[in-house]
Amino acid sequence: MAREPLLSAADASPASEVFAPDRPQREEPQREEDVALRPKRMEDMVGQREVYERLKIAVDAALIRGEALGHILLDGPPGLGKTTFATCIPRALGVPLQIASGATLTAPKDLLPYLTNAEESSILFIDEIHRLPKAVEEFMYPAMEDFRVDITLGEGVSARTVNLSLRPFTIIGATTRSGMLSAPLRDRFQIREHLEFYSDEELTEIVRRNAAKLRIEIDDSSAKKIASCSRGTPRVANNRLRWVRDYATSRADGKITLDVAKLALNMLGIDHLGLDVQDRKYMETIMRVFHGGPVGVEAVAHTLNTATDTLTDEVEPFLLRAELVVRTPRGRKLTSAGYAHLGVAAPVETGSELTLPLFDGEYGEEVVGG
Ligand code: ADP
Repeated sequence: MAREPLLSAADASPASEVFAPDRPQREEPQREEDVALRPKRMEDMVGQREVYERLKIAVDAALIRGEALGHILLDGPPGLGKTTFATCIPRALGVPLQIASGATLTAPKDLLPYLTNAEESSILFIDEIHRLPKAVEEFMYPAMEDFRVDITLGEGVSARTVNLSLRPFTIIGATTRSGMLSAPLRDRFQIREHLEFYSDEELTEIVRRNAAKLRIEIDDSSAKKIASCSRGTPRVANNRLRWVRDYATSRADGKITLDVAKLALNMLGIDHLGLDVQDRKYMETIMRVFHGGPVGVEAVAHTLNTATDTLTDEVEPFLLRAELVVRTPRGRKLTSAGYAHLGVAAPVETGSELTLPLFDGEYGEEVVGG
């Protein structure tokens, strides 16, 4: 027997599925290793002081007025603290948190239970919000603006729209690609914050605190070393710290000293800028296969047999920030600093033409000119 579709927005789902507000919430599996070291309160977060101050003011004001916080959009490369802010804010407000991901909200019916379950002033965190399909995004507009959703029941001539009121709540959206968000969605966030890479000092502090949480002895120079090899990113610093700890446990007496840290990082192929094998492969591919660029990121991804998203989200942001690579209208291009990092002299630019250095196969053995 055919079931009547409930939501007009291109999905024909069984009634029980759409309207069961007590359907189990799909908690996104948070990275386990992140959860253990994640600060619990905004005050405990290191760095991002301006963002912190502005969010703190918004949280305080919402608490004083007893109102729901305005919707917040956090953007920035992965591992910089978007989820951490999103989990600390509800704690500061003393309200429940629901977690969803743009990648799994494929139709309005997927979002509906989150909206109907949202308690007064509670937070709905949507990670990777740029991945929401258009139909879900549009379904969300009245929910964000007027705390209501329009649901179309039935179809064809018998279709009718039901207006469902929601309790005032707050969406915190996180994205690594704010440029991919449509203007109408972006405009519905009252607070928009961009997270920047962390300084070496801030990362050193994070490494020190997390070493204490993991009960590892670490001296200052080792903490600094791990921080400076972490691409400005707390998640990377945590991962490097864990690796160095394992190395220290297995190959030394459990204590992290500068020598142990250096050996451990070296074994992972991490260089003094904190670039790993994948980062260098990306740069080497642009240099070797595409003569330094400009080249489209898709072409580099195909050559490396990697997903384009991995390159744009995880590899490129730090390389761009470190000015090892630039983005031009015609694609990615290695900078002279990028060549220098690979130990190769940059080609000489003559007008619009590029003269490639003679290349002998091994980096560092080339002869400029010819
Ligand atoms: P994102 O959501 O931006 O990908 P997360 O918030 O999950 O990043 O951060 C990854 C990990 O980095 C967290 O588990 C936490 O341990 C650490 N971290 C991020 N930001 C900070 C910060 N400001 N202070 C201390 N640790 C942080």
